[in-house]
Amino acid sequence: MASVVLSGFSGTGKTTVGPLVASRLGLPFLDTDTEIERRCQISIAELWRSRGESSLRRVEEALVRELFADGIDRVVAFGGGTLTNRALRHMVLDRAMLVTLTARPDVIVARVGDAQERPALTGPDPLARVVSLLEQRASVYAECHLSLATDGQSPEDVAARVTAAARQVRVAVALGRRTYSVRVVEDAPHALTEALSALAPSSLVVVSDSHVRATRGTALGSAIRPLGVPLTHVWLEPGEESKSLASVQTIWRAAIDDHVDRQSVVLGFGGGVVGDLAGFAASTLLRGLRVVQAPTTLLAMVDASVGGKTGFNLAAGKNLIGSFHQPAAVVADVAHLATLPLRDLVAGLAEVAKVALVCDESLWLELEASAERLRDRDPPALTAAIRRAIAIKARVVRDDEREGGIRQLLNLGHTMGHALEAAGGYSRYRHGEAVALGLVAEVRAAERLDVATPGLAVRVQTLLARLGLPTDVSGDDLAAAWPLVAQDKKRVGADVALPLVRYPGDARLVSVPLQTLARVLGIDQTGIG
Ligand code: NAD
Repeated sequence: MASVVLSGFSGTGKTTVGPLVASRLGLPFLDTDTEIERRCQISIAELWRSRGESSLRRVEEALVRELFADGIDRVVAFGGGTLTNRALRHMVLDRAMLVTLTARPDVIVARVGDAQERPALTGPDPLARVVSLLEQRASVYAECHLSLATDGQSPEDVAARVTAAARQVRVAVALGRRTYSVRVVEDAPHALTEALSALAPSSLVVVSDSHVRATRGTALGSAIRPLGVPLTHVWLEPGEESKSLASVQTIWRAAIDDHVDRQSVVLGFGGGVVGDLAGFAASTLLRGLRVVQAPTTLLAMVDASVGGKTGFNLAAGKNLIGSFHQPAAVVADVAHLATLPLRDLVAGLAEVAKVALVCDESLWLELEASAERLRDRDPPALTAAIRRAIAIKARVVRDDEREGGIRQLLNLGHTMGHALEAAGGYSRYRHGEAVALGLVAEVRAAERLDVATPGLAVRVQTLLARLGLPTDVSGDDLAAAWPLVAQDKKRVGADVALPLVRYPGDARLVSVPLQTLARVLGIDQTGIG
């Protein structure tokens, strides 16, 4: 368990609820305002008045960083403005369970009482000041793992909910007011029910495929039946061939025929194909409906369901039409993987390896230590890898939602991978298998361009093979796929933006002329039109 941080405006109940949560979890409690007053021998109000708000924020930041440096888990109540510092907020999100407590402005004013002791609220009209500050800080408070309203709730009830959430695995994708949480659960259909019911949908459009219906239909039914809202079901044909405009039209028609409205929610329940289609349909229906992703393949859990990329394929290439549309929630139930064919499970491991190779050396070393256990579906090893891969993806998306910078690094292996996948008519390789082949080819290219440390390509090939992925691609296959690289979305003129890895956890984006890439990959372009 990690530390639990309670944030939110003054008067939302942090100091009352905090000690209750701490005693339930058996952790120490600390209130940052009280601690600052103890250390500075001066009240927070006096500190603010005599030295100014920026001075208070600096003291708060130093204290928070100190609290996270000693390795002790605790429950901490923060001051109302502590997390207005973005870097500090994201550090806390990465290392603790961050819960925002909320209350209505009139309740806050009634609870805080003497405004003299709350310098942020001084002025002739405290209610107007509260409303204005809540608006200013809305995106700050939204960036959390869980937001709980405390009006009309007893402190014990709020503490019970915080405690229950602290025992769950949640990753927050922090995007201001569009922040959402990804829950990783084990055999808990009610987690999806909770995520959906929190959105209060007027109706639900469930997009899935017929394999998933046959294998996971019971879990799906258990999750959505308790909602008691009108349901529209769209069962697509399984497989990449379904990732087409025709499937999008099927979803559009079913939803419109059933009179969806702006409060309806689309649920993508399946692998990456289902998720990308459900997300795209949601982004366009009535100019944008909320989508919840419930991934059922490993690949969709660690990659496709998080980050908001949606779309479908054209004959000319993969994902050429699409949109960014962040989900309102993601619930990944690891139990779904029990029925996933081994070939699809292994394909998902390619994306885990990719994310480690690009961003996280320690995850890479972990994969090297546990490759066979992962391939053999060892539940603890899988859950740990899924959680870490999702946390990395969430950080990358938070820092570069629209893929203008660091997120492009996650395309490692996809320039050649997408081309191989398309050249194979989307049936020869699973997406993850094509990515594995792309990873080998692109790391080899990085080595030949003197970017990667010598021997890295063999190391990558060895791990992927141990995970059960294909790693050998013939020169003829690369040459056959090459013309499709020219249609890649990452191509700019005669160059392609290629992530190049130096060593695990260290990659950079380099603009590489297509001619150079072909040469280092040993592709003979004579005769390729
Ligand atoms: P998929 O969706 O085709 O699923 C693979 C197969 O597994 C299908 O036949 C499906 O019916 C079946 N299946 C799914 N869950 C199952 C379960 N629990 N038990 C039994 N069978 C199950 O493929 P995928 O590998 O999940 O996703 C690949 C797609 O994801 C590609 O189209 C790729 O472009 C896309 N993708 C998107 C992103 C993104 O950011 N949006 C990222 C990576 C990949």
